[in-house]
Amino acid sequence: MTSLKLTDEQLECRNMAREFCQKRVYPVTRKLDEEGLPSELVAEMGKLGYLGCSIATEYGGMGLDPFAVACIIEEFARANAGLATLMAAHLSLGCKTMELYGSPEQKKKYLPEMAAGAITSFCLTEPNAGTDVLSIQAKAVPEEDHYILNGEKQFITSADVAKFFVVFCKAEKGPTCFIAERSAEGLSVGAPEKKLGIRSSKTCPVHFQDVKVPAGNMLGELGKGFRVALSVLDYGRLGVAAGALGIAEQAFDEAVDYTQNRVQFGKSISSFQATQFKFADMRVDIDASRYLLHHALQKAMDGERFSIEAAKAKLKASETASAVADENIQMHGGYGYTQDYNAERLWRDARITRIYEGTSEAMRMIIGGAFGAKKGK
Ligand SMILES: Cc1cc2nc3c(=O)[nH]c(=O)nc-3n(C[C@H](O)[C@H](O)[C@H](O)COP(=O)(O)OP(=O)(O)OC[C@H]3O[C@@H](n4cnc5c(N)ncnc54)[C@H](O)[C@@H]3O)c2cc1C
Repeated sequence: MTSLKLTDEQLECRNMAREFCQKRVYPVTRKLDEEGLPSELVAEMGKLGYLGCSIATEYGGMGLDPFAVACIIEEFARANAGLATLMAAHLSLGCKTMELYGSPEQKKKYLPEMAAGAITSFCLTEPNAGTDVLSIQAKAVPEEDHYILNGEKQFITSADVAKFFVVFCKAEKGPTCFIAERSAEGLSVGAPEKKLGIRSSKTCPVHFQDVKVPAGNMLGELGKGFRVALSVLDYGRLGVAAGALGIAEQAFDEAVDYTQNRVQFGKSISSFQATQFKFADMRVDIDASRYLLHHALQKAMDGERFSIEAAKAKLKASETASAVADENIQMHGGYGYTQDYNAERLWRDARITRIYEGTSEAMRMIIGGAFGAKKGK
């Protein structure tokens, strides 16, 4: 198992993100949940390099390693999980597709803008194709030197503000990935969903109606889009696990703080052993999540396959975030059920981490699938 010791550079990244969030995010987190993300805040994050932190320096990014990026996402998720969702989906899905599958010309054209904060959405899910991604119906039909895209994409993070759309369609040889620009004629974004949590992040349908994209906008090979999607989602799951860890840590800290100050029966409720046993269980699950995430991050950094490790990390961290956020409400009693405290928002925000970028059931399919068939059969 990987050591949990961070390098000085990784620690510095975490501390800088924490400082930024303390100044710019925590004080307005309830407002962000109610009103959405102000464009000035996203622009400021772009200026400071957060929206390009994982992108190589030669393209204008910060070139940070996966551990440092996970630390940053965790800090943002502690402060506001919707904001962390915007950052993680942009970096670990949209930009990552370009980094892994873009040609040198495509990278040169798109990555500098992405690194500077031009938000990139990842359009895979459709109304009738979620977990079963192979059943996507969006089509890309070749015509001379371009493709014509038609189809509906559902639940697309940050589509309201995205400049670029990484999109998966069925082409002549099977699923294929393209990059489309917001300005393309026929590309339109529908109204945001009214969601339970991560309300500061907007999730919208995206419609492609006879959208013309140059053949040169294909990312990866014709017919190999499924491989593109799955390999990029491995990175996405590291981001979700880091975000879930942030929510869990925040909920834990708030539970400790509240119970140390709340007095019943003449004592702080944190002094009851029943409360301390709950802290013990929460702490073990959070630390186990962190170990699993670090193990997956190390494999990614070493250039090894990490699909199963990413699935384990996402599964454990997301289920832990939900459980800890739930216990945090319980420890706050009736006050936890009101909007006077963060507890209810953390609980709502934690819930999505078990659904997006592959549900908990999908993660169990990946992890358990490895044991489904006898060797040699
Ligand atoms: C807020 C939000 C943001 C999102 N952002 C994006 C984005 O940016 N880009 C994008 O492409 N998508 C995005 N998604 C989509 C998300 O990844 C899907 O919702 C998710 O993968 C599940 O797909 P589905 O909703 O169609 O559920 P379904 O696939 O219909 O699943 C419904 C239930 O059935 C279970 N199930 C399905 N198949 C099986 C099986 N074989 N065995 C056991 N159980 C099964 C699932 O686990 C789930 O519990 C987002 C979704 C939300 C809510």
